[in-house]
Amino acid sequence: LKRVYRFEEGNAEMKNLLGGKGANLAEMTALGLPIPPGFTVTTEACQAYYTAGGKMPEGLMQEIHHALRGLEEAKSAEFGGLSRPLLVSVRSGSVTSMPGMMDTILNLGLNDDTVKGLAEQTGNERFAYDCYRRFIQMFGDVVLGIHSIYFERLIEKSRKENGRSCDQEISAGEWKELIAKYKWIVEDRTGQPFPQDVRVQLKLAVEAVFRSWNNMRAKVYRKAYGIPDEQGTAVNIQAMVFGNLGSGSGTGVLFTRNPSTGERELYGEYLADAQGEDVVAGVRTPKPVSELCSELPLVYEQLSAAAGLLEMHYRDMQDIEFTVENGILYLLQTRSGKRTAQASVKIAVDLTKEGILSKEEAVSRIEPGHLDQLLHRSIAIPPELAPIAKGLPASPGAAVGLIALDADTAERWAKDGRKVVLVSTETSPDDIHGILAAEGVLTSRGGMTSHAAVVARGMGKPCICGCEALSIDHADRSVRIGELTLAEGEEISLDASGGEVFRGGLSLSDPEITPELLTLLDYADEIRKLRIYANADTPHDARKAREFGAEGIGLCRTEHMFFSGSRLPIVQSMILAGGREERMLYLDRLLPMQQADFEDMFLAMDGLPVTVRLLDPPLHEFLPNPDQLREQCRKLEETGEDGEEVRKLKIMISKVNDLREVNPMLGLRGVRLGILFPEIYEMQIEAIFKAAQSALRRGVDVRPEIMIPLVGHPDELKRMRALVDDIAGQVLSEEFRGLVYRVGTMIEVPRAALLADAIAQHADFFSFGTNDLTQMTFGYSRDDAEGKFLNSYLDGNILKANPFQVLDQDGVGQLIQWAVTRGKAVKSFLKTGICGEHGGDRESISFCHRTGLEYVSCSPYRIPFARIAAAQAAL
Ligand code: ADP
Ligand code: MG
Ligand code: MG
Repeated sequence: LKRVYRFEEGNAEMKNLLGGKGANLAEMTALGLPIPPGFTVTTEACQAYYTAGGKMPEGLMQEIHHALRGLEEAKSAEFGGLSRPLLVSVRSGSVTSMPGMMDTILNLGLNDDTVKGLAEQTGNERFAYDCYRRFIQMFGDVVLGIHSIYFERLIEKSRKENGRSCDQEISAGEWKELIAKYKWIVEDRTGQPFPQDVRVQLKLAVEAVFRSWNNMRAKVYRKAYGIPDEQGTAVNIQAMVFGNLGSGSGTGVLFTRNPSTGERELYGEYLADAQGEDVVAGVRTPKPVSELCSELPLVYEQLSAAAGLLEMHYRDMQDIEFTVENGILYLLQTRSGKRTAQASVKIAVDLTKEGILSKEEAVSRIEPGHLDQLLHRSIAIPPELAPIAKGLPASPGAAVGLIALDADTAERWAKDGRKVVLVSTETSPDDIHGILAAEGVLTSRGGMTSHAAVVARGMGKPCICGCEALSIDHADRSVRIGELTLAEGEEISLDASGGEVFRGGLSLSDPEITPELLTLLDYADEIRKLRIYANADTPHDARKAREFGAEGIGLCRTEHMFFSGSRLPIVQSMILAGGREERMLYLDRLLPMQQADFEDMFLAMDGLPVTVRLLDPPLHEFLPNPDQLREQCRKLEETGEDGEEVRKLKIMISKVNDLREVNPMLGLRGVRLGILFPEIYEMQIEAIFKAAQSALRRGVDVRPEIMIPLVGHPDELKRMRALVDDIAGQVLSEEFRGLVYRVGTMIEVPRAALLADAIAQHADFFSFGTNDLTQMTFGYSRDDAEGKFLNSYLDGNILKANPFQVLDQDGVGQLIQWAVTRGKAVKSFLKTGICGEHGGDRESISFCHRTGLEYVSCSPYRIPFARIAAAQAAL
């Protein structure tokens, strides 16, 4: 079994075996790009390490040393050699990119002897000892588990004592002194001297990279992104090139397009005289990569050529890591760049227009999380409000939350249901759980490619970095900005798109739809099979829905029209009426109001179907609270005045009591209302047809669909259908008799799904009301489950997802499938769709597509999301 692949032997297709980094290093080598020589230890070797209970697989080190000989030849150097020592990096590399989550060790191969060789070879003693101290520090951290802070503190102290303002000024002698202390720390903390045998160093480093697969932050990251635990990491061993050789050297990262906006430009950061992590660690603030253009023009030219080549080759925006050693460019990594939602859409559309991607590919490239972000929140900043601080707009969007000063606090508060903003000096991979928990991130140090920025962009979290005015007092648990002190737990708002921080909680507002998003939505519309309807109860919502591309109203809940201030008292009197006659009196008053509402809806949806659901909720939802009534009554009685009012209240109380139910959700509601009090449904149906007729007179193309809720028995629908046809006949004048309307039902009681064939005989359409259907199939009260037991079920993995958010395909889905099949067997033209929360969920939409539904209906703001999700389902 081959466990070691030279870069020359691999390619980009071999990600599963070589990890993303290794496979791409191989691919770039084959492309002829300047890649320092190296080889990759496979993920299988890592898996074998774990299967053996954390033991190096037999013979692996021999294979590694064999491959190392190739590097020695290529570099005319010798691993552990005294005159020309070969130094290598030992780099982790998982199959799915997990930026910064795992470990890498640089400058391996240095010891007390080889460091002298390196100094002689380069004629640069300062450089050699800088490498050595970096190596001890990284090795100490990654392999020996000694936190870098112990080393950093020593540097800090030495800098102060010797009056150095930055690491570049530290002399060779000072590094030597520090190295002595470093070694002492290692010995003190591990009980062993720092390993001088380079072979031992290498073995320990490979093992440490294997182990880093299971460090806490990597586990958290995998869980968050659904990356399988058994994948394991590859290990890349590569000859070192040096960016810390003075001003003609340096290191940087480069995006082939702007990862925030998607603009086509080289975008990145570069730090002269630096190595590896210096750029992302946010220790010194790097320069924009464009400055290389004047400083090292040849390097810049090569870099932009490589960027263009790689983008074309991979057909996607790339995130490239590079190092310049004495004016010579080396590439060290390329991968698909993490990007903001906005950039992701722009890049996909631009690449399609440039002829690099097909429309299908463009649509499939969009991550649902990004769409979510794009279609939500930005912040409404009152014009007179000034920000308290400014930083770099590292990941756009807006966030409002309580200041949390460390990741653990952020996580804890978020678990308690509070919204938090993680505020810290800089973040490290150990803070991943805090970033996940937070609404947004604010750091005082670091650039656009600092850890916080990269991670936040990937997660679609708003993030502001390098907000230098800000200082954090951990002892006092507070944040200081100039004169201003904010305690931990105070509320702040981030406008991360503009890089501005505000005190207090500002309100978040609707998204804007960019031209690129519109184009992408057009692509999606060409691909998808599902139609997208909206749940909209008001003409305003209907218009909004249409703007977002709704092709109809799938659910108009008439009861929402009953709740407005002036109507509620009439509705209440109607419900409490003594008999049919009295009730009719109030219904007559409601009729013109409903009619006007419906007419507006038809106008807004000219040419498109409008599905009106007749009254559904339990009647008590409209009535006053009996306890409050009693209290009111008691007060009146005490004053002894107004006996008439007291009498009325008492009647009201007893009527409200009469209507009380133990299980209102399973009580007198939905079609049962229509059966018991047909006059209510009659009024609504009359209003619909009168509105339709009057809209028709105005030249509007009206397509009413009347939906009967909560049917469980075919005869219920049969009776209601007869009622609709009857009233249509009465209301519509000769001229408009030909109006095509549909009568259908919600399928939300399991019995209706089971008897779909019998029900279909009376229905033109089925709309799966998955909220109630889920509630009744599981037997979970939706209003109680979440607070009472659902979380335990989710935590304990009994349920994979909240079935009220993600459609339960195993159970509820089976009922839907059954009903669709049986219904269509009876009526091939039966129209089927889904309304309810699930209409806006990606997996549920995909299920609807596979099940052959005609449409999904979701909230207006969710429509662009649903259009793309439906297209992705069709790919
Ligand atoms: P990560 O996966 O965390 O990005 P990498 O393995 O890419 O870790 O290493 C981090 C950085 O270390 C690289 O971006 C690069 O700057 C530096 N580095 C890695 N290998 C080498 C090398 N052979 N020569 C010079 N620098 C290297
Ligand atoms: Mg790293
Ligand atoms: Mg890297």
